[in-house]
Parts: sequence; structure tokens; C-alpha cells
Amino acid sequence: DAKDQGRDREQVYSSAMALVNIEQRSMKARVAAALEDGRMTLRFHPIVALDTASGDWRVVGAEALLRMHDAALGLLSPALFHHALDDAKLARPIGRYVLDRALRASAAWLNKGVRLSVAVNISTRHLMQQEFIADIDEALAAHPEVDATLLCIEITETGPLVDPTGARQVIDECRARGINVSLDDFGTGNASLSHVQQMDVGTLKIDQSFVRDILVEPRNIAIAAGILTTARLLKIAVIAEGVETEEQGVLLISLGCGQLQGHVIAEPMLATAIPAWVENWVYPASWRLAAPVVLE
Ligand code: C2E
Ligand code: MG
Ligand code: MG
Ligand code: MG
Repeated sequence: DAKDQGRDREQVYSSAMALVNIEQRSMKARVAAALEDGRMTLRFHPIVALDTASGDWRVVGAEALLRMHDAALGLLSPALFHHALDDAKLARPIGRYVLDRALRASAAWLNKGVRLSVAVNISTRHLMQQEFIADIDEALAAHPEVDATLLCIEITETGPLVDPTGARQVIDECRARGINVSLDDFGTGNASLSHVQQMDVGTLKIDQSFVRDILVEPRNIAIAAGILTTARLLKIAVIAEGVETEEQGVLLISLGCGQLQGHVIAEPMLATAIPAWVENWVYPASWRLAAPVVLE
């Protein structure tokens, strides 16, 4: 009867949930093992900015993106193990690893005469831990040639939403050291521009979901334009991420976006590839002409 059917369905749900849990637990174990065995690695994704004085675009930074080498599955994106990144036990060791390797890369670039900021994705779990600022200080101390102003941390809005006071304190501690703070995936969650203003973040990253269809979806243009206008008034920089075509870049630039990141510029690459790539990068000519005249 209906009652039995209900119970059956419940059973199906709970075994599906159990499977998902096992899957995630084994993924966490894989991540822990990879960290232990030195099978974590970083790729770096260039960020370019308009130099308003010359009208030229230049490479100003690179975002560190974590990859896990799995014997069975190959090189994995964190999209496949994001539960592990926010895990109570793993968030901090992963965060410390990425901070150290990102600053090491920055030091190596400086050594080659290439001065770029390096952006590190920080899990909310790590951000909100007591030891977070000590971990930042330790990483900076280990790479004294890298100035704190070259470091940027990318956070999502979950921390500021769950614990605004706590998040604000951590952000203030970072800013006091000269570290820039970016709000990643902006527009996808529940954070409003008023949160942004309260949080003293230096940069917003427009999520790629708004960029992907911007040429065919007028509502995405409206969202990007709204973010850009408000950010300009608040004197917050904006990076559009996930820019895949020259035309998407032109549109974003014409809306006043001064920084771009995405596959049209480059795919994420090894740290060692960055200096030569920076040397050789040529921006699309259309980007020079796209910049609007902005009255301050
Ligand atoms: P995110 O921080 O928003 O990073 C942007 C993601 O979009 C990256 O994927 C990047 O490779 C991808 N991407 C950039 N430009 C384009 C484009 O033009 N087209 C397309 N299709 N994709 C583009 P990735 O490396 O797989 O990272 C996914 C997410 O994993 C990141 O999103 C970030 O939230 C998280 N993540 C990455 N590295 C770390 C890390 O070291 N620590 C933590 N906690 N999270 C990380
Ligand atoms: Mg990011
Ligand atoms: Mg993002
Ligand atoms: Mg993302």
C-alpha cells in the first residue's frame, strides 16, 4: 500500500545518500593522501588589467588553482573535491599548502623580474579558524621577498554571511597587512552590495555564470552593469572571470570592467610558464578601443 511505497522511497533515498556520503568520504581520503604524498599541485591563471593612463592591457596577477593528481583519475579540478576543501580536518592543511606554494611561485617570478600579485582561494572553513591569520603570517615570513601587498585572498560570501563580525575582523587583519581581499563568484549567493561595503573587500569577481552568456542574455548585461556601477561608486575593483571570447571582453570593457580573467587570455598554466607567457602576451586590439570614457 501507499505506506509501504513511502517506506520504499525512503529506503531508496537513504541508500542514495549513503552512497553519496561514501563517495565524499573516499574523496576526502584521496585528498588527504594526495596532500601527504605530494600529489597536490597548483596551476596559475593570469589576470589582466587596463592601464587607464596608456590604454594598454597588461598582466597584473595570477590566481593559484589547486589540482590533485590521482593515480586512477589523473589531474583533478577542485570542482570534483570541493567538499574536502571545506572539511574540518583538511581545510587548514590545504590552505597552508596553497599559501606556501603560491608565495613560492610569486618569489620565483620576482626573481625573473616579473612582479605580479598572486591570488589564493581560501575556504570559508579556514578563513574562520582561529589560526588563519597566523597561517598567513607564517607563509609571508617564509617568503620575505614577497611583499604582503602582492598577496590577494579570494573568499566567497558564505563566511561574511554566516558570521559577519568574525569575517570582518579577519578581513581587517588582512587589509592591515596590505593584503588585498576579493569576493569570489560575486552575484551567485546571497551577499548584497551592502555586505560588500561593510566588509572592506578591495575587489569583486563577477561570476562566470554571468559572463558565459553575456552576449545573448540581456539580463546578464544588466547584472554586470549593476555590479560595475556600484563597485565604481564604492571604489572597489572588479574582475570579470570566465571570459572565453574577445567579444565578451569587449562588452565587459565597454561596461567599465577594468580587469579580466578567462580562457580567451590563457588557460591555467604551470608557475614556471608564467614569466615567458607574460613577456609574450598580446592583448586583442579591439580591447584598446572598447574602453568607455569614465567621468570620475
Ligand atoms: P574560482 O575561484 O571561481 O576559479 C575559477 C574557475 O573557473 C577555475 O576552475 C578556472 O580554471 C575556471 N575558469 C577560468 N576562466 C575560465 C573560462 O574562461 N572558461 C571556463 N570554462 N572556466 C574558466 P578550477 O581551477 O576548476 O577551480 C574551481 C573552483 O575550485 C574555484 O573557483 C575555487 O572556488 C576552487 N578552488 C580552486 N583552487 C582552490 C584552492 O587552492 N583552495 C580552495 N579552497 N579552493 C580552490
Ligand atoms: Mg577564485
Ligand atoms: Mg570565481
Ligand atoms: Mg567558482
